[in-house]
Amino acid sequence: MREPQDRYECRAYAKINLGLDVLGRLPNGYHKVKMVMQTVDIYDVLTFEREDSGIVITTDSGELPTDKDNLIYKAAGLLLERYHITEGVRIHLQKNIPIAAGMAGGSTDAAAALKGVSRLFGLDLNEEELKELGVQVGADVPYCVMGGTALAEGIGEKLTVLPPIPECFLLVAKPDINVSTKYVYEHLDALSSYAHPDIDGMVQAIADGSLQGVIDRLGNVLEGVTVSAYPIIDTIKRRMLALGAAGSLMSGSGPTVFGIFTEEEKAKNAFERLQTEQLAKQVFLTNFWDPGKQRDKQ
Ligand code: ATP
Repeated sequence: MREPQDRYECRAYAKINLGLDVLGRLPNGYHKVKMVMQTVDIYDVLTFEREDSGIVITTDSGELPTDKDNLIYKAAGLLLERYHITEGVRIHLQKNIPIAAGMAGGSTDAAAALKGVSRLFGLDLNEEELKELGVQVGADVPYCVMGGTALAEGIGEKLTVLPPIPECFLLVAKPDINVSTKYVYEHLDALSSYAHPDIDGMVQAIADGSLQGVIDRLGNVLEGVTVSAYPIIDTIKRRMLALGAAGSLMSGSGPTVFGIFTEEEKAKNAFERLQTEQLAKQVFLTNFWDPGKQRDKQ
């Protein structure tokens, strides 16, 4: 047991998918996936304080529920119940990650809530215990507990740690539309066939330390479905490539688009151009985030 704490603050990092394949549909409605996940340096900040009872959530975001529909509430509630904790918790969420964007914003907040509540009450749960609780909140939560570069299989919960990808510059743009993950998967299911990205090849390229090998294999099976409904995604992709991105892709079920740049000057210029052109509502110039290297900075 660690000492319980009165207050705890932590960051919850967003992810992108460098590769996303869907291998089939399971009887329970979940999809069997094969994805290359990468944490990026865009994060929410969560602050935890002990309360006499109950779960109170506050946030600076006007768009999110603060009741049981918030994934933070689900995660905190699950942990309090599992460990028979009768005290409560107050959690404040400073939201920076675009919402309903394909960046696992809700899942990463849930992962942070598991860590935060565990710390607050001195439970000292290890990563495996947090992941096991996390999968009960959402398929991407175990990955968010861990972060970094990883291959995710099963429904997203079977994780293999991959080595960090060589440094590059990342442009992330979220157009002013909200995409329903359910809609995208339903439309994918209706297709008779689709081209599968080369996930195994990407994993090998990562093992070889080849950024170009990763860029050559960027692929997301959901992209075609979302682009058909929202052509702006393709417009942003093409704009990033025209501005010098070595590769560009939609993340998750969208609508967020990212561009990978090998030259900082080009990335900065593209960032400024995308901001003035207003193709996207939110634009970030960022990097991949490696928890092993940067955990101490938190
Ligand atoms: P994924 O990449 O896992 O598909 P996403 O980035 O597309 O996730 P989220 O930002 O996680 O989507 O939000 C999806 C929905 O979940 C939103 O409509 C939102 O109302 C709900 N939600 C519940 N809790 C949260 C939270 N803490 N942060 C963001 N969204 C939340």
